[in-house]
Amino acid sequence: MKADRVVIVGAGMGGLAAALELAHRGCAVTVVEAAAVPGGKMRRVETDLGPVDAGPTVFTMRGIFDALFETVGESLDEVVSLTPLAVLARHAWGEGPSLDLYADVERSADAIGSFAGAAGARGYRRFAADSHRIFDLLDARFMQAPRPSLVGLASGLGLSGLAIRPFETLWRALGSYFEDPRLHQLFGRYATYCGSSPFMAPATLMLVAHAEQAGVWTIRGGMQELARALAGLAAARGTQFRYGTAVESIMVENGTARGVRLAGGETIAADAVVWNGDAGALWRGLAGPAVARATPATDPQTRSLSAVTWCLAAKAAGFPLAFHNVFFSADYRAEFDAIMTRGCLPDRPTVYLCAQDRSDEGPPPTGPERLFCLVNAPPAADTGRPADEEIARCEATMMDCLRGAGLSLEITSRAVTGPRDFARLFPGTGGALYGMATHGAMASFRRPGSRTAIPRLYLAGGSVHPGPGVPMAAISGRLAARTVTEDLISRPVSIRTAMPGGMSTH
Ligand SMILES: Cc1cc2nc3c(=O)[nH]c(=O)nc-3n(C[C@H](O)[C@H](O)[C@H](O)COP(=O)(O)OP(=O)(O)OC[C@H]3O[C@@H](n4cnc5c(N)ncnc54)[C@H](O)[C@@H]3O)c2cc1C
Repeated sequence: MKADRVVIVGAGMGGLAAALELAHRGCAVTVVEAAAVPGGKMRRVETDLGPVDAGPTVFTMRGIFDALFETVGESLDEVVSLTPLAVLARHAWGEGPSLDLYADVERSADAIGSFAGAAGARGYRRFAADSHRIFDLLDARFMQAPRPSLVGLASGLGLSGLAIRPFETLWRALGSYFEDPRLHQLFGRYATYCGSSPFMAPATLMLVAHAEQAGVWTIRGGMQELARALAGLAAARGTQFRYGTAVESIMVENGTARGVRLAGGETIAADAVVWNGDAGALWRGLAGPAVARATPATDPQTRSLSAVTWCLAAKAAGFPLAFHNVFFSADYRAEFDAIMTRGCLPDRPTVYLCAQDRSDEGPPPTGPERLFCLVNAPPAADTGRPADEEIARCEATMMDCLRGAGLSLEITSRAVTGPRDFARLFPGTGGALYGMATHGAMASFRRPGSRTAIPRLYLAGGSVHPGPGVPMAAISGRLAARTVTEDLISRPVSIRTAMPGGMSTH
């Protein structure tokens, strides 16, 4: 029997997970990727000291990948080398004491007790228990399920649904756990893992703190090794990868997706197409007019955070860096007002710094080392912002923030990526890195699911359900693979179910 042909546009985490699973099920998969390598946002940038991870650096929820690898008869540990971190992250506020969080709740509670007193430790224990509960309530019913409706989720959860606190902001909810403003800020920052402001995100995002609490791993060779591993396993199952090749449009015949046209005119016919670019790119017509209404309109106002990032080779002195470090600004609200309301970079940014040559054990590097710094930024690339001068000013204030905690950097090599660069790399985003922001109770339910309004056109990636982040994007890829398989087996497309003009009747 002839294998079903599936074209996947994009070798980001969602596209790779879908490719691996579909190839394993016997589909003839072709992945078309504009970049030269797999990984998408999971990318590397060269410095004097070698490649620096320039996208995701916090690897959590390894169970999602264990399950994916198991499904295809492989073992994650045999393909990539993971090391758990004991210190999840080191947090600093100016020249005051710093606070480490650990992969062990009681150890973190003790550290918080020493840092902020017994009330802080008690608040943290309650917070850790509640965020764990929210995570457990939503794991199978929301995160790993095809996109549920609010009503469906609420009826599934019953009274325990109140525990997920969708109608309260994260910032407000945190006030009931933490009196110390530093702890309030630290736990509010988890909203940014979904590209959102803690002042607008629902308290439900407490679950992100639990995802991190449950474990953070480093990957030998860098995060992109995970993408390479998935691509290698998919290739071993017959997937063809076309790197350095952009899809110009998705072909639609009789209202049904039938393949893709590449920049240059070549076409690839398919029985199903999975779009792993940003969902908003379709609506903006970036995959051709025939699929421009495949997903609902997205308002640029709802976009998630962008970032300015610095990949550095530098000698660091004056502050004992861990692998993950956060240097907080004094006024978090002012920071998010600047980004979300005024569309500009904050005057005083919070800085995330990943010291990629460090580990829990072993001595710190004695010479220059590879560092990655990130400051949140507005997704305003459509308007040309932030301009180079604004980014240069931000670099100066970022260095001030690090110096405030005693850290000085002697930089030998640097590469800066800002919202306009991200918008070019990830078309249709305006630089937003996480799809739509999770602002308000309904935001999570507005993300599109795997199916689109066009039969045989599917979505996978951080801009669709269940949301952004490496594990979530992988789940979306698995959900897309499942939906493609269901449709190819059980829903042969006929002229009756597909109307010209691109809208499906089912
Ligand atoms: C700076 C940064 C830091 C982050 N930190 C973390 C973190 O610490 N932990 C975490 O879990 N997550 C983090 N994330 C988020 C995480 O990286 C993403 O949510 C996830 O990797 C997105 O995967 P995706 O499947 O959406 O694909 P993407 O990574 O968005 O890749 C999509 C791919 O599609 C390709 N493409 C698009 N259009 C076309 C076309 N027309 N033709 C061909 N190819 C096309 C693009 O080139 C790209 O390679 C971070 C992201 C960034 C940018």
